[in-house]
Amino acid sequence: MHYAALASGSKGNCHALSDGEHTLLIDAGLSLRQIGQRLQALGQEVGRVQGLALTHEHSDHIGALGVVLRRTHWAILATAETRRAAEKAQGVVIPPERWIELVAGQPTDWAGWRVLPFALPHDAADPVAFRVEAGGQACAVVTDLGHPTALVADHLQDLDLLVLEANHDVDMLREGEYPPHLKARILSRVGHLSNASMAELLCRVCAPRLRQVVLAHLSESNNHPDLARFAAEEVLRGSTVALHLAHQRNPIALSVTPV
Ligand SMILES: [Zn+2]
Ligand SMILES: [Zn+2]
Repeated sequence: MHYAALASGSKGNCHALSDGEHTLLIDAGLSLRQIGQRLQALGQEVGRVQGLALTHEHSDHIGALGVVLRRTHWAILATAETRRAAEKAQGVVIPPERWIELVAGQPTDWAGWRVLPFALPHDAADPVAFRVEAGGQACAVVTDLGHPTALVADHLQDLDLLVLEANHDVDMLREGEYPPHLKARILSRVGHLSNASMAELLCRVCAPRLRQVVLAHLSESNNHPDLARFAAEEVLRGSTVALHLAHQRNPIALSVTPV
């Protein structure tokens, strides 16, 4: 399997998983043109994309939904509540024949892959993260969560690749220039994951099988890549896990190879 972070951060999120034949996007928070250009820059073809799985309806995750519906034939994988909320937020209709209904906690077969959405604590209608298993490998993309729950940790066992939110440094956020209501939202139990909470969760799920970790959804205002990296390195010290950072502007690609 191949994983790519096409973009990650508050200005737009899009992840791509591919087995060389099929590509599934997780979220489309940057323009369709950018999605195509970034896939191409990584040597991947936008023509192989057949599905778009939505985590939740915030605009940094579904901003391109209207154009995707008009210009592509991709299937849209979403829970019923996220579908409804996304349609309302973007003023679009997801035709029933293009919708694959997801239910948190229940795996769906997609292109021979096992796609398992699971619930997250975040201030959206029905937010989920994804665990995807294909070709004997397991990956998870986990961003936009206020705190690390036991349910989330349970779904992150025995992974080969983990993409995990490291949104903010609590001190930088507290002392920064965001208005109080926004600070409170981000710090809340249904906001975003701090570096410290990321490290706590990583500690709970770091197992010998885990080969690669990608830190994602870093705030450009309230975090510094070195702080996020340092928090994860503390946990990963002594292990052979490779650590990567997803960026807002520059896509990265990784091969998820079997052990
Ligand atoms: Zn969100
Ligand atoms: Zn987000």
